[in-house]
Amino acid sequence: MTTDTSLAEICTVKREDIPETVTEEYSDAERDELKSRIKQLLKEQNAVMVAHYYTDPDLQLIADATVGYVSDSLDMARFGSESEADTLVVCGVKFMGETAKILNPEKRILMPDLNADCSLDIGCPIDAFSEFCDQHPDRTVVVYANTSAAVKARSDWVVTSGSALDIINHLQAKGQKFIWAPDKYLGDYIQKQTGADMLLWQGACIVHEEFKGIELAELKKQHPDAKVLVHPESPASVIELADVVSSTTGIIKAAKELDAKEFIVATDKGIFHKMQEAAPDKIFIEAPTSGKGATCISCGHCPWMAMNSLRKVVECLETGSGEIHIDPELGKRARVPIQRLLDFAKVHNQQVLMSSDA
Ligand code: SF4
Repeated sequence: MTTDTSLAEICTVKREDIPETVTEEYSDAERDELKSRIKQLLKEQNAVMVAHYYTDPDLQLIADATVGYVSDSLDMARFGSESEADTLVVCGVKFMGETAKILNPEKRILMPDLNADCSLDIGCPIDAFSEFCDQHPDRTVVVYANTSAAVKARSDWVVTSGSALDIINHLQAKGQKFIWAPDKYLGDYIQKQTGADMLLWQGACIVHEEFKGIELAELKKQHPDAKVLVHPESPASVIELADVVSSTTGIIKAAKELDAKEFIVATDKGIFHKMQEAAPDKIFIEAPTSGKGATCISCGHCPWMAMNSLRKVVECLETGSGEIHIDPELGKRARVPIQRLLDFAKVHNQQVLMSSDA
């Protein structure tokens, strides 16, 4: 299992397992009706909606317009802990619903579509990962948020793209060596920044992996004054051209604060809604996913995030479908490494930004 070839095979999501990106179309009247119905159901059920930046702008607007929240994944789960709602409707992908349940075991967690997965989560199956960890018992196991509850439960630390550098630096100073999972690009970036001894699991986000360095360099020539904002799940050739490498929340902040008119953005294009809201006078350009070697599996938009829709939110609230269940014992074990992250963030007065946080 531990040869490079077999590890790469385990981590690679098959083309046939990646759904088509489908966006549901509605007339204005249908959209308005669905939105009112969602608001009514949320109120009746003492429920709140939390939505990820990569989901449909309509869902983000409803979360903002009710007492919900739009953010990245751990922040979504933490918001749920602070809310007095009985039910959280998590618009995002499955690991986000699971994290919400781990942190809020007493609440009902609903998701519009339980098939909304993530290539990083799929590419890190617990049995293979656990075997890999068993082979390196001297290493601290650090996993990114985009993993199943079982993988989190097997880890020592859960980190986010906003906290990974500080946590790895902190642990490295104590002489620790690491297993890093699941994203190989983010792991490579952290390794280069910290010089830490890290064994990298070989997973990848199918959205960020498609951004192209050569084509981005060409696009930069056409927009010489544009700043380039890149999520660290992107390949090294793209990260090298970045003015800012950051989590989704960090990217939105940079768009607002940097003194530039134009930005080229290498992350899921669902984020453009919040970026435009944060900086209405600025221009945002999608980083290229086409060009040499292009596959356009995602074309810059996560097919699993796209499974969240207004109609499915109504359905899950009306029928109770899409409820997340986690074995309580597993949930308790998975909470330990997440709690380490939360405690670390508190002690270091650090905002936990859970990209991908995708
Ligand atoms: S965009 Fe996020 S949810 Fe979609 S595959 Fe990439 S990391 Fe997973």
